[in-house]
Amino acid sequence: MFGINVEYKKDGAVRFPEFTAQVKDKKIFAVCDINTEKYLLPLLDELKSTVKDIRVLTFHDEELVPDEHAYGKMEEEVGDADWILVAGSGTLNDLGKYVGAKLGKPNSTLATAPSMDGYISTVAAIMTEGRKVTLPAQAPKDVLIDPEVVATAPAHMVGAGVGDILGKYNSILDWKLANYKNGEALNDESIALTLKAVDDVLANMDKIMGYDPQGMVYLMDALITSGYAMVIAGNSRPASGGEHHTSHYLEMDFVKKGLPVPLHGIKVGLGTLVCISIYRWLKENNIQFNGCEKVYEEVEKLPKEEDIIAILKRLNTPVTYTEIGVSEDLLKEMLLNAYTVRERYTVLSLMKELDLMKDVVPMLVEKYL
Ligand SMILES: [Zn+2]
Repeated sequence: MFGINVEYKKDGAVRFPEFTAQVKDKKIFAVCDINTEKYLLPLLDELKSTVKDIRVLTFHDEELVPDEHAYGKMEEEVGDADWILVAGSGTLNDLGKYVGAKLGKPNSTLATAPSMDGYISTVAAIMTEGRKVTLPAQAPKDVLIDPEVVATAPAHMVGAGVGDILGKYNSILDWKLANYKNGEALNDESIALTLKAVDDVLANMDKIMGYDPQGMVYLMDALITSGYAMVIAGNSRPASGGEHHTSHYLEMDFVKKGLPVPLHGIKVGLGTLVCISIYRWLKENNIQFNGCEKVYEEVEKLPKEEDIIAILKRLNTPVTYTEIGVSEDLLKEMLLNAYTVRERYTVLSLMKELDLMKDVVPMLVEKYL
């Protein structure tokens, strides 16, 4: 789709035949870290007889940061390679897309964790001068998925991917809220595509929670589909609403304080709980606003908070803000101000507009601190 080869492992000596054909006679610059090297090396073995040359860069950082040091190192070592292959998830995928775009070389990713939905996006989250910024990048030519590899990802990385996916229930409802209330245009195709993928994940949650490779296929499919849905919509509306704004708000705070940033999907999972609880509170209190009847019909269809909590707990993923080092003050500040992160109408904007956020802060602190 859209010229991107999303390829699942085939049985046979060559696991990714389409990719392998694509890089025939190329000079490969392969990049990994100490956690993903063990997945990269067997793939390089398979490629040895097909490609012209392979050079490998392994980052030895315990927690690789996509900053000047990391992409500088890649630019320094890429040499005359004409294809960048990374093995990883969020950080390495971003580095591959960013450096590839910068140097005008195609890049591919061997996915090692189902932790986020940015595999095929055309932007990259890069740290520059201590600030995290979203920079233009390019989509990878290939995303290579071996479900058995993905199934070995640490539980909290699977939990992060699940959190990012469950967040779509809220982002879609935020979009519908903006339509029902303010007349913002919807894109039905991207909504249908997203919800189908997310429903499939929920329906197969037992397999995912059991780290069954077949379950990982559903999760990876949903994470990739969410990326397509954004391309179809022409923006990130189907994938990102108030739950993402809370996550980005905290992220800026972690970065400002120089603290390690918890995985994106973990913060999104928490933000999803917060936003769904707000929607439910609005409905229970029968708060009136333009289009509220239609919104409240949709609230009925949202997954229950206790079910989300049970799923995240099974995946060893935080269900309270304390677990990720957020204080009560910061949580309150986030609730009151996260709507400022970007100009996009969400349930957080509605609460601001109706001046109701302060009324729900105690309930949310009680539930999720
Ligand atoms: Zn996300």
